[in-house]
Formats: sequence, C-alpha cells, structure tokens
Amino acid sequence: MSMKENKYRLVLGLEIHLHVKSQTKMFCGCDANIFKAEPNTHTCPTCLALPGALPVPNKEAVEKTHLLGVALNCKLNECSRFDRKHYFYPDLPKGYQISQYKQPFCEGGHITLDSGKKIEIERIHLEEDTAKSHHEDDKTLIDFNMSGMPLIELVTKPVFTSASDAGEFARKLREIVRALDVGNADMEKGQLRIEPNISVRTVEMEEKGELPDYKVEIKNINSFKFMEKAVKYEFERQSALLQADQEVLQENRGWDEKKSITVLQRQKEEAHDYRYFPEPDIPPMKFDNEYFDNLKDNMLLQNLPAVRVMNLTETFKLTEQKAKMLLSLSQGSYTKIIDEFRLFAEKTSIEHSEIAKLLINKPEFRGLKPKEFENRVNESLDKLDSSDELNAIIKKVLKENEKVVQDIKNGKDNAIQFLLGQVMRESKGKADPKIAKGLIQNFVKG
Ligand code: ZN
Ligand code: MN
Repeated sequence: MSMKENKYRLVLGLEIHLHVKSQTKMFCGCDANIFKAEPNTHTCPTCLALPGALPVPNKEAVEKTHLLGVALNCKLNECSRFDRKHYFYPDLPKGYQISQYKQPFCEGGHITLDSGKKIEIERIHLEEDTAKSHHEDDKTLIDFNMSGMPLIELVTKPVFTSASDAGEFARKLREIVRALDVGNADMEKGQLRIEPNISVRTVEMEEKGELPDYKVEIKNINSFKFMEKAVKYEFERQSALLQADQEVLQENRGWDEKKSITVLQRQKEEAHDYRYFPEPDIPPMKFDNEYFDNLKDNMLLQNLPAVRVMNLTETFKLTEQKAKMLLSLSQGSYTKIIDEFRLFAEKTSIEHSEIAKLLINKPEFRGLKPKEFENRVNESLDKLDSSDELNAIIKKVLKENEKVVQDIKNGKDNAIQFLLGQVMRESKGKADPKIAKGLIQNFVKG
C-alpha cells in the first residue's frame, strides 16, 4: 500500500533533543565533557539528586538556546522560568526533571525546506538530561555522567506530510546547530535524538483540518535514516489497523534496527500526569531587548554561511540564490557587501531584491552612503537598465534595417552609428549608448 493510493494521511511532528555544547552541566559545575569518561566520574550532589543540593542555571546554555531561537526566527520570551516535570524512573532519582512548561525560552519560528515549504516550530526549551541505564544480564547499572547535561528540546507543529521532509528538517537543524556552535549534534554520542510523533487520519479529516485524538511517539532515534524508516513503518502499521476497524493506541514505541520495525515500550501517560509546577529553587528569569540585540549582533558577526543565508532570506525576503551570491561575494571579492546590503535595506526605500541585484551586478553602486545609493538608484531607474527590454529594441531596429546590417557586415563600420541613433530614439533616450553600441556589435557580428 503506497501513501498515494491509501485513503489515510500521515500526521507527523518532531520532538528533537540536543545536547548544548557547554563547559559545565545544566545546574551544577560538573565538567560537561563526559564522552569516554569512566562511569559516574562527572557527578556531584546536584546531578546525583542528593537531598538539599540546589540547582544553579548554566548561563551559557541559556544563551545558546536563545541563539538557536534567533536563528530559527522564534519569538524570544522576555519572561521565562523552569518547571518541574514529575515522573519516576531509575535514571531520574529526583523524581522529576527540571524542564520548561508554560514559559519556554523560545516559541514559534520555522525552517524553510528546499521545496519552499515552511516547517513551523512550536517551541524551544531547555532542560536537563537524565542518567543512563545499562542493562547487563539481570542487573541494571546506572551512569550519572549524562545526568544534568544541558539539553535543548525543540518541538515542531505536526505539519510534516512525508518522512523525507522530516529528514530534511532534522538535517537542516543539525547544520544550523553546528554552525552556531550551539552543539556538536553528534548522533552516535546521543547528542541529537529524534522522536517522531506519528498518527494517521482520513482524507476527510485532513480536508477539515481535524487532528487524530492519539499519537504514537517513537523514542530516541539516533539516525536520520532510521527516523524516516520508522515513520514509514508506523504509517503502514497504523493505516492497516484503521483499515481493519481497530483502534490505534496512544503509546511510546522504539525502533528495532535489526528487524526494521517499531516495538511497544509503554502506554503513554497524558501530559497532566507530569504534574508540572514552577521550579521553586530557581527564580523566574527576565531578559531585556539589549540582551537579545547583542545576541543577534553576535550571531551575524560570526561568519556562519547557513545562518547568514537564512537571515538574508528570512529577514530581507531575498531568494536563496541572491542570498548565496551576496554571501560568496562577501567571502571573496567584496567583503563589505552584506553590511552594505543590510545598511541600504534599513536606510533606504529601495526594494530589497533590487538592492541585492545592484550590489551584486553593478560595482558602481557599492561603497556609497545610503542617501547617495538611493539617489543613484532613482536616477538610473530613469535609464533603461533591463537588458531584456534593450535587447528587444535592438532586435527590432536591426530587423527594420537589414540593409544597414548588411553594410556593416561588409565592413562599413560607421553605419553602426545610424543603428545606435535608431535604438536611442526607440528607447526614448533611456538606453545607455555604450552598452547599446556593444550589444549592436554583438548582434551584427554574431
Ligand atoms: Zn554535577
Ligand atoms: Mn524533553
């Protein structure tokens, strides 16, 4: 059964967890470089959850979460706080995880796919990772090195219509996270984990914009390929159940790499079962515009191709092609071009794509003050500078003067002046004579 002939449609959102690159853990001073460390060597009373130990938020992790929010065009909340998310698990000895619920650091935002489709983001928040259980025979061992690692959680809206779009989104996110130095996002080290939320609805529900009343969460997938496979598998599994008039249960499942199937882990608790409440040991946080502006400036000062291209396309609505062109010039022959583009975009009334076009194609428009730039653009708008239009006029003139064209071909070079005169008249004086003459020569000789 392929997706097209199926009467069911995929409903898919992603939850992505990623480790923040930081010197220390999220709420204590433990060294966060835990890779290859002996088990339980990067621990302290706070990340071991000993009674009386108090959490102190990691400023670097907070800034990096905001930075990611800036890059993904999120709304950054001026007021944020941490909340306790309660659940019991051996790798979470506090009995709760410090996370964010009502006031996450970032809300909204999106990543645009190559197809032009915008994948909307619900929220980005910061939390702590849990410890890691190792099962050996009938024993379970716990390593607390991972406990309290700073962890960003990004949740998308359930807007994906295919597994491959979800894969593209996750890959683009990884690229941005790395470009910003927010994290290494190494999937083999568990630094980037994807949890697709999958359900299935009928075509009619899709038309009415109705969402299913359940979702199946596939936990902690550490490969883009497996994620895409798991989504496809779940779509088939759930469609088949519905087709057979059976209910699909809300549950957590895992991906079995060897068998290429998803397997039941546990029936999912409802959100309210977590009994979220504000973390009393950490005061609410307030951020001002100066702080956010600094973050934005710092981000743009860094030479980050993916981020800079995205900023140009999102903030200034340039096409990706123009943005990439500006970027490549800025790294090569004209390093000031992006700064000038931003300056002119902010300080003049000229359309952004026009500014980019002129800076890219016409060196005489570079290195100007905004006012000079604007004046020069307005003057040149009176000139005919669309080459298409000029080409059309020249072709017309040549066609009407075939004899003169023949004369030129026979060596009567100064007859070009006559054609040029016709072109100038035809363009009502707006053509640039030098350019027009060059074009006429090319046409006649070509
Ligand atoms: Zn610690
Ligand atoms: Mn989480």
